[in-house]
Amino acid sequence: MPISPTYRPDPRFPDLGPEFADAVRAEAFPQTTLRFRNDRAAATVGLDTLTDAEWIAHFGRFEPLPGNIDPPLAQRYHGHQFRSYNPDLGDGRGFTFAQMRDAPIEQGGTGRLLDLGTKGSGRTPWSRTADGRLTLKGGVREVLATAMLEALGVPTSRSFSLIETGEDLVRGDEPSPTRSAVLVRLSHGHIRFGSFQRHAYLEAPDRLTALTDHVIENYYPRLAGGTDRPVALFRAVIARSARLTARWMAAGFVHGVLNTDNMNLSGESFDYGPYRFLPHNDPNFTAAYFDSSGLYSFGRQPEAVFWNLQQLAGALSLIAETDALVDALNGFGGAYRDELTAAMLDRLGMRPAGAEADAGLVQAAFRAISEGGPRLRWEPFFFDWFCGDQARALGSLRGDLYAEAGFSEFRQLMARFEPDRPERLADPYFTRPEPEELLVDQIEALWTPIAATDDWSAFHAKLAGIETARRAWRLPAQGT
Ligand code: AMP
Ligand code: MG
Repeated sequence: MPISPTYRPDPRFPDLGPEFADAVRAEAFPQTTLRFRNDRAAATVGLDTLTDAEWIAHFGRFEPLPGNIDPPLAQRYHGHQFRSYNPDLGDGRGFTFAQMRDAPIEQGGTGRLLDLGTKGSGRTPWSRTADGRLTLKGGVREVLATAMLEALGVPTSRSFSLIETGEDLVRGDEPSPTRSAVLVRLSHGHIRFGSFQRHAYLEAPDRLTALTDHVIENYYPRLAGGTDRPVALFRAVIARSARLTARWMAAGFVHGVLNTDNMNLSGESFDYGPYRFLPHNDPNFTAAYFDSSGLYSFGRQPEAVFWNLQQLAGALSLIAETDALVDALNGFGGAYRDELTAAMLDRLGMRPAGAEADAGLVQAAFRAISEGGPRLRWEPFFFDWFCGDQARALGSLRGDLYAEAGFSEFRQLMARFEPDRPERLADPYFTRPEPEELLVDQIEALWTPIAATDDWSAFHAKLAGIETARRAWRLPAQGT
């Protein structure tokens, strides 16, 4: 029996009943070639001991896991896409496959309820005119995004499995035909803002209450005994969303498609399509080629998340007092600013020194990054200045730039702060001239040998590099 005793199945989503999801079946794919398995993530849920053949049976052919969800469930939801309401959404190429507990807190885990959800597993009642599939390149991009975001301390879903499925797909944004794959993600829930919006649109307050209770019980258990549950939940979601947004900004990450069906109630980010990491500071930087107005550009992400929270408030207003929801919404700006300060201090490797001083340092850091303009890439700035070692920064490849007058305010402020765990600088990673980055050209460069000769070595080397960076940064773990 290759499943380890630390596998703790806990299927909860089916309890919600038929109004929340549809039973579906995975496509029978012509090929199932394992391309990536995340054994570090699998170990947290007792699935790392599966043989490759068993892994493929579960995550390529979707044979149910013991004591788990059967049949898989495609979630129903609606959502605002680029601000227009779409009542025809739902899991169109995925389903919730299994739910299980992370290791208990006493054993170094978080005890959280996690689920395995798919992307590219075939058509569902919510596929509309689309094929229900994922391109292999899309899967590769999502695996890389999640690894990098985790390393940078962003609360994110984790890529669990990527299996190539042997079909030819046609896509407007890739040379076609293009290869197909099925991705499995490990997430802290897959319930979206749009899941609530659907029941508001259908004027079903009882279902909104049931969904609120479900989310509290499974994702915010500390709120379980409280009163005014919808408002309490909304406040908690605002706090988590503020944290998530701040961590994206400090990571220089542009999600690209911040529609309400891509926002998780648990405040974890997921669903990485046309994302980009910033080459250098640019508030107008846009990831999705179809985002012609720049609605989801880098600098507008906090506003996009706030707008999405307003839509969630609108849905909850069927079961909660509007004044209380508005009052909660008013807390977003302050929460976001506090979280941005914390996220930036983590990335700079500096200890907090009081709210006012911290905010001053963060502003100076943003001014310094802007001062560098296109001469200063986002990621090297944080790498060079990590833990505030001025000699190391000034001796770096970008040292001449940092010696310029435009950086003096930042240099002086940094000198007044204490480093946080400066022993981290002893890691050999910090003696490298350049940090790990995940710029789009690098992704394209590692995709080329996969497409040309099925050579996966650059992809695996990139993942190994990101893992080296994660171990060196040792940023606070997300997800408590
Ligand atoms: P996304 O922009 O990837 O979050 O997708 C928005 C909606 O379209 C979701 O409901 C997806 O399930 C659905 N969708 C996206 N791509 C496909 C596809 N190839 N086949 C079926 N549904 C899809
Ligand atoms: Mg989506």
